[in-house]
Amino acid sequence: MSAPLYQSPKGVHDVLPDDHLYFSFIKKVVRHHCRRAGYRRISTPIFEDIEVFTRSIGGTSDIVEKEMFTLESKSGKKYALKPEGTAGVVRAYLEHGMQQMPKPVELYYIEPHFRYNRPQKGRYRQFHQFGCEVIGESDPAVDAQVIYLAYRINQDLGIADRLSLQLNTIGSMEDRVKFKEDLINFYTGKERSLCEDCKRRMLENPLRLLDCKEEDCQILASMAPKFENVICNESKEHFEILKEYLEELNVPYELNPLLVRGLDYYTHTVFEFWSKKEGSQNATGGGGRYDGLIEIMGGQPTPAVGFAAGIERTIEYMKEAGIRPPNKDAVAIFVAQLGLVAKKKSLTLINKLRDQGLNVVGAVGKDSMKSQMGLADRLGAQYSLILGQIEVQEGTIILRDMKKGSQETVSYEGIVDKMVELLGKNPLANKKLWEE
Ligand code: AMP
Repeated sequence: MSAPLYQSPKGVHDVLPDDHLYFSFIKKVVRHHCRRAGYRRISTPIFEDIEVFTRSIGGTSDIVEKEMFTLESKSGKKYALKPEGTAGVVRAYLEHGMQQMPKPVELYYIEPHFRYNRPQKGRYRQFHQFGCEVIGESDPAVDAQVIYLAYRINQDLGIADRLSLQLNTIGSMEDRVKFKEDLINFYTGKERSLCEDCKRRMLENPLRLLDCKEEDCQILASMAPKFENVICNESKEHFEILKEYLEELNVPYELNPLLVRGLDYYTHTVFEFWSKKEGSQNATGGGGRYDGLIEIMGGQPTPAVGFAAGIERTIEYMKEAGIRPPNKDAVAIFVAQLGLVAKKKSLTLINKLRDQGLNVVGAVGKDSMKSQMGLADRLGAQYSLILGQIEVQEGTIILRDMKKGSQETVSYEGIVDKMVELLGKNPLANKKLWEE
């Protein structure tokens, strides 16, 4: 096969039908759990004023420094494709006066995001995230509920056991100022052992020195001062209570004093779900508290907490776990026909079967019977119904069980009822779409 004339751009990919089975299933599970917990869905634009991200995520984060897809309008206004969900949600919260709504305001999203990073397995330039934000409540019980929601979703997707919840606190904004000084004191004189990125981080965002993935930097990080030495009593208490709540909810966690998360806006609780697989540090998702963000974005000081998970990585872990989502698209019946009269009749038959909630594909072209049956095989149809000239004359139809390879001639009259009997009644049959 010669190379195609066009290919998708580097780092972005098509979601093909097989992966859509996973996408649909994940969306369903997310929607189910979010709705049950009182969350309402929000979608923010694919691109925003660039400042929405630079102000909120922080100018020293990898995302803002290196990973944003930026656009410029003809008048010179700068925009960026959204690299994550929280900034846009907070912008929308403030723009639409959601401060007036009963607190906490609970929102969830399922959206594409864009980061200009070096594409590799599990890291793309366009990817999808589901996430939730709870705005307006500072109680650690909310942190626990958000973490529980993420954990429950992972359970229903069949991957909770393969992931370990990493948990840490990064204290208040004031604690972080003190901690940054401690870190700078510790790292001063050791710059030569740091990678290029960390040399820069030391000047710009020393907290990020702790979660560098380079081996030498990790060794130094393990010897660096610990956050628990500077953390204020209020933050300590918040974290202690959160841990008690998680134990009450039976959510297993691992304390990880080096977890800081990449974004600047976090305070207090931070968490990530990591693969337990040896050598793999790919997180499926993470989040934390961001009590200072709404003020940074121009609102009144308002506590908030949230999380986001990557759909592509979630799918990867589901595949590793051998989980196949239920396939509602599976073809139940293939209708084959030969001759004009049979073709006419088969069109009505296909619709009648579909009205019963059955997935039906019909061959309406002029292919030979052999190639029609080949197609039925490739589509994985459970049954084929074959209508030729003789069958039309006799008022019959051939019913073929594709798995067993056996077939019988049955009456055309009762064929719809017979298929419903064989395949089971679909509870959605004859229901309107909005009643599902
Ligand atoms: P973050 O907020 O950066 O921790 O992202 C949350 C989750 O989104 C990660 O744990 C990944 O599952 C997913 N994610 C982030 N960046 C990418 C990317 N470039 N490609 C694919 N998934 C990503």
